[in-house]
Amino acid sequence: MMNFNDEIFKNLCVVSAPSGAGKTSLIKKISSHKNISVSISETTRNPRTGEVDGVDYIFVKKSDFELKIKNEQYIEYAQVHSNYYGTVLDSVVQLLQKNIIVILEIDYQGAETVKKQLPQSRNIFVLPPSLKVLEKRLRERATDKEEVIQERMKNARIELSKAKNYDYILENDDFELAEKKLLAYVLDVNMDVDEKVRKEPLIDKNF
Ligand code: 5GP
Repeated sequence: MMNFNDEIFKNLCVVSAPSGAGKTSLIKKISSHKNISVSISETTRNPRTGEVDGVDYIFVKKSDFELKIKNEQYIEYAQVHSNYYGTVLDSVVQLLQKNIIVILEIDYQGAETVKKQLPQSRNIFVLPPSLKVLEKRLRERATDKEEVIQERMKNARIELSKAKNYDYILENDDFELAEKKLLAYVLDVNMDVDEKVRKEPLIDKNF
């Protein structure tokens, strides 16, 4: 039986952001560090063009996902944009036990669940410079239909309202700077609680 008080969970870092904020690119950059691994979530949504099963996500059937919920195999799961997304507990623990820092790239619902169960874990919110920039990035990505973009913008506003609940808020305006800050935060497992709360001001933001 897993002990959720275990010290190993200090090495668990949750990163959230509205889609289009640049979270995935930032995480991809820092994941080349030898001591960092990014957990691959399971999802019931269809793969987007170019996405690879087992790399971007593990794509599963809804019935399989629901069975795993019943068997308590997810450390957290949530319904986002009408699909299930979840993190398998076993695979995360296996990495943490090897002293590897594990990043969970998950939404605010999952972040809340993880923090409640594992207060020693750390969480980070990546802010886009503004909602306008966010919408522009979603359109430039051009992988989604208009109604999907509108749904993502609606969800983005909900996500952004949760930013203040995170230990650390990072603005992704200058990519290289954001990458440096994210890496420093993720690697700094021994910061005490006060130091962890290094929020950048949320004022003057165009949301
Ligand atoms: P997308 O469909 O754009 O890849 O992801 C949509 C949202 O689902 C993003 O906010 C992403 O962070 C979130 N997400 C991805 N994997 C998980 C997961 O395992 N758990 C939770 N709670 N959210 C996830």
